[in-house]
Formats: sequence, C-alpha cells, structure tokens
Amino acid sequence: MKTTRSVAELRAALEGAGRVGLVPTMGALHEGHLSLVRRAREECETVVVSLFVNPTQFGPSEDLEAYPRDETRDAALLDAEGADLLFAPAREELYPPGFATSVRVSGLTRELEGEARGDEHFEGVATVVLKLLNIARPDAVYFGQKDAQQTLVIRRMARDLDVPTRIEVLPTVRDPDGLALSSRNAYLEPAERDQALGLSAALRAAEDTVARGELSASAVLEAARSELASAGLEPEYLELRSAEDLTPVESVNGSTLLALAARVGRARLIDNVVLASGAQAGRVGRSAARASVGRAPDRLVSAEHRSLNDLTGGKA
Ligand code: AMP
Repeated sequence: MKTTRSVAELRAALEGAGRVGLVPTMGALHEGHLSLVRRAREECETVVVSLFVNPTQFGPSEDLEAYPRDETRDAALLDAEGADLLFAPAREELYPPGFATSVRVSGLTRELEGEARGDEHFEGVATVVLKLLNIARPDAVYFGQKDAQQTLVIRRMARDLDVPTRIEVLPTVRDPDGLALSSRNAYLEPAERDQALGLSAALRAAEDTVARGELSASAVLEAARSELASAGLEPEYLELRSAEDLTPVESVNGSTLLALAARVGRARLIDNVVLASGAQAGRVGRSAARASVGRAPDRLVSAEHRSLNDLTGGKA
C-alpha cells in the first residue's frame, strides 16, 4: 500500500486505476472501518482509504486534540486488508490559507447530532466529504450506518450537487456483547465500557417492544429509556425519526430510525437501529441471526439487519 499526502500525489497514483472505491475515515481504525474497506476491495479495482481527523467538524469544546491517532498501526491494518492507497494529508493540504468555502445541507443537519454538536459539525462533514470525493473522484464511497444521520446528510448533498459517486452504507459492526465499535471507545475505562453496553441494550429493548407489536413512539422510547436508566445513563437525545428524512414519527412504520447519544465517562457515544414492524425487524448484536465479518470472528454484525442502505439507497 502506498501512502500519499498531497492531492497531486494521490491524483497521479490514481491515473489508470480503474474502478475506484473510497473509504473516508478519521483513523484509529477498528473492524467497523475494515468492514468498509473489505466491501470496497470486493467491488473496486483500486481502494483508497483517507485518514484525516477533520478539524472543522469538531466543536471548540470537543475532543479534536485528544482524538486517538496512530497512523503506523492504521497503515498496517489497511495493508493487511489489501488497500492500495492511503491518503493522509496534513491539515494545510486540505485547508490552505484563505480557505473560504463550506457546504451547508439544510434541514437534516439541525437536529440530533447537529443540535448536540452545533451547526458547524455537519458543515464540516459535508465540506470535507465533498472535497475527498472531488480529490479521489471515486466510483463508490463507503460509509457506516453507525453514523446514520451523517449518511443521510451526505446522500442529500450528493443528490443536490449532482455528485456521480455511488454511496454505500454498511451495517454497524459491534462487539459480541453488542457495543458498537467506535474509535471513541478507547476513552472508556473497563467499568465505563460495561456502562456503555446500556446503549445497545436500549436499542434491543426497543426492538423487543416492536417485536411484541407495540409500535407507538412512547412505548418504544420508554423501553429504551428504562434500559439506559438502569445502566445509569442519561441520553443526550433519544429519538424516533423517519429513517428517510429524520422527521419525527408517532409510531414505528417500517422505516424508522431510533437514534441516541449519551456520555459515558469522557466518551460521547452514539448508536442507532432501524426499526421495522413485524417480521422485518432486525437485531442489535447478541442475536441469533449474526454473521461474522471477514477474518475477525469475534466481531459480529447482524446479517439480517435492515440497513439505511436498503431504505434510502440513492433517495435521501
Ligand atoms: P470515523 O473514522 O469515525 O469518521 O468513521 C469512518 C467511517 O467508518 C464512517 O463511515 C463511519 O460510519 C464508519 N464506522 C464507524 N464505526 C463503525 C462501526 N462500528 N460499524 C460500521 N461502520 C463504522
């Protein structure tokens, strides 16, 4: 795998590269990221992974400085997955002096993560993703459902700005006990990791409620809230929204996103599940229907999970 640090160097390396797949990351890679790389490897001739801790999507009081960074380890993991190119630019390469442009996607960006982290968050995300798409000009780009709202924002941006890249959203990879993998899990002390299981337990409680035929938002949210409370967690938000456009919903109706954020120790964690009524319902971790991802049998993802890709492919 070749590491490139400038736009010119990456573009030169991509000449005649055939079908290109891009996986944007902020590094501190885990099996969630690697599941995206594996899919890109299956589908594309050349796999580019970007590693850039994008400062513009962090608020002033957030963890930009503390964010875990280990490029050597990340590069070794990517090399082992057969990635072709690592794009790891310095901040000034992407934001040279005088940088003055940003992409703002209205509506979808104000709520949930946008409300909690400020308007700048998704502006920073949309801007850097559009830059990466323009730099690498990939045929396909791969994202995780773990950041569900981000995927909706990017799909909307791509549709509105006529970005020709195919956008793929892959299921959230979890530890066997249900915890969604996240680079920020590195902040958790052992006791806090136990407490963090409350997030996935809350999503499972919501799924169980729906499986019993209780579809009202109040019943579903109450079940989730009570799991969070028994883990000693107070959600920053816990919301049932349309999985297509994030509008609030009164009941689970087949394409409903349950999204939550909570602080555990010094980590701010997010998780979500797409709830579906009846037999379509998926499971969050610890379920009977799971398939291992690639070479890591201890990391599991729900095989039958209904994903945002199914629901919003090309539409949001
Ligand atoms: P990040 O490095 O956190 O910006 O994430 C880079 C990409 O990996 C994003 O598309 C995330 O949604 C995705 N990702 C992060 N965690 C997971 C996970 N547990 N499962 C699947 N994808 C993930």
